[in-house]
Amino acid sequence: MADIQLYNSKTRTTERFDPIDRNNVRMYVCGPTVYDRAHLGNARPVVVFDVLFRLLRHVYGEDHVTYVRNFTDVDDKINARARESGRDISEITSETTQWFLDDMRALGALDPTQMPRATGFIPQMIEMIERLIAKGHAYEAEGHVLFDVKSYTDYGKLSGRSLDDMIAGARVEVAPYKRDPMDFVLWKPSTDDLPGWDSPWGRGRPGWHIECSAMSYDLLGDSFDIHGGGNDLTFPHHENEIAQSCCAHPEGQFARFWMHNEMLQVEGKKMSKSLGNFFTVRDLLDQGIPGEVIRFIFLSTHYRKPMDWTEKKAEEARDTLWKWRKATEGAVTAFRPDREVVEALARDLNTPLALSILHQRFKEAKSGEDINRFRSTLDFLGFGKEWPSGVTVAVEKAYGHAAKMQEIADQIEAARSAKDFATSDRLRDALIAAGVEVKITKEGVIAEAGPAFDPAKLEALK
Ligand code: AMP
Ligand code: ZN
Repeated sequence: MADIQLYNSKTRTTERFDPIDRNNVRMYVCGPTVYDRAHLGNARPVVVFDVLFRLLRHVYGEDHVTYVRNFTDVDDKINARARESGRDISEITSETTQWFLDDMRALGALDPTQMPRATGFIPQMIEMIERLIAKGHAYEAEGHVLFDVKSYTDYGKLSGRSLDDMIAGARVEVAPYKRDPMDFVLWKPSTDDLPGWDSPWGRGRPGWHIECSAMSYDLLGDSFDIHGGGNDLTFPHHENEIAQSCCAHPEGQFARFWMHNEMLQVEGKKMSKSLGNFFTVRDLLDQGIPGEVIRFIFLSTHYRKPMDWTEKKAEEARDTLWKWRKATEGAVTAFRPDREVVEALARDLNTPLALSILHQRFKEAKSGEDINRFRSTLDFLGFGKEWPSGVTVAVEKAYGHAAKMQEIADQIEAARSAKDFATSDRLRDALIAAGVEVKITKEGVIAEAGPAFDPAKLEALK
C-alpha cells in the first residue's frame, strides 16, 4: 500500500497521512457560490482534489472514502444577481449548480460522494450558533449573531497572523454592534425581500463561514481527515471555520490535514470575478478545447505553485493527449495503474512527476500489455472519460480536427468533379504529408488521421 505524504498547511510540514478510520477516509472541500459560470480558477481545486480523491479511493478502496463538497446557495452575490436580472433566486442557483456539475464532469472530475447545499442545512447552522452562544463564544447584537474572536485563543494560527496583522491587512467591516472589529457574522437579519429563515434571533440568514462548519459536522463528524480549498480561503474563511467548529465541538479536532491549492493567475494576478480577468471553463469547452486538455494543463503544475493558462500549454497538451489517444485506441483499462505514477501522487500529489513518468512509459512501451497498463493509468488519472474506444472519427471530432479534414476532402472532391486534377492531387498530397490517410472512392473522399497524423500541418493547409 502506498504511503501517502501530504503537505499540511496547519503544521506547515509534509506529514505521513494516516486516516482516523481506514474504512471511512473523510474529506471536505469548499465548493462554489452558485450565481454564475465557474471560471477556470474555480476549476483548479476541483481537479486537484479530484486527483486526491482518486488516490485515496485507490489506496483505501472505492467504498471507503467520503468526499463532501458544498454548494453555497445563500449569499449576497446571489441576491444581487437575482435583483439585477429579475429572476428567482432558486432558478439562478439550480441552473448554476447544474452548469458547474456539467463543466466539472467535462474535466474528468468524479462527483464527490455528497454535495450538500447550504440551504438544506439551516437548522444545523442554527443549532451550532446556539451552542456557540451557550459556550460564550458568540453574542447577539441588533438581530445579528457574532463570533467573539477574542474568546478563542488559537484564532489566526492557520494563517499565521496575529489579531493586529489581521485587522491591518483585511478589510474588516466595522459595525457599531461588534464588540471587536475582527468579530465575524454567524447570523444576520433579513428584510422581507431577502431570503430568510426563522431563528431565535428573528428572521434572518447565515453568514458565509458557518455553513461549512455545520455541514462538515453533520456529514463527517467532529473530527475528519482532510479539509481543502484554494489558498485564498485560508483567511478569513478557513480561520473562521476552525474557530466555529473547534469552539462548538472542542471534543473533536475538526480537520487534521488542511490542504490549499495555489491560484490560477492571469499575468501575475489571481483570476477572479471581481478583477474581471477571467474566462470560464465553458468558454474553453465551446472553443473546442477538450476537457481533458484543461485537466492535463492543471496536472502539469504542482498544486502548491501558482500557474498560468497559456495557448502554448494548451497546444502541447492537446498534441500529447492526441498521440496517447491514438496509440491506446482499443486498449483496455482493467489493469492496476502504474505503481510509480501512484507513488508520485502519494508524494503530496506530485502530478508533474506523474505526467513525466507517463511520457517515459509511452516512449518505452513495446507490448500490448504495456499499452493496456498505460491506458489504465491514464484512466486512473481521470483522462479516460470521453474516450470512445475504437472510434477514430469521434476522437478526431473531440480534438476539433475532423472539420478541417472534411473541408479539404470536400475541396478534393470538388476539384475532381471539375476535372482539375492538379488541384486535387496537390491537396491529396498535402493531406498525406500531414499524416492523413486519404481514400478516394465512388461515394466520395474519405480522410482519416493515420498514425503519423500531425494536427499542426493539417491546420496550416489552405
Ligand atoms: P468561490 O466561488 O470564489 O468561493 O471559489 C470557489 C473555489 O475556487 C474556492 O476553493 C477558491 O479557493 C477557488 N478559486 C477561486 N479563484 C481561484 C483561482 N484563481 N485559482 C485557483 N482557485 C481559485
Ligand atoms: Zn468552506
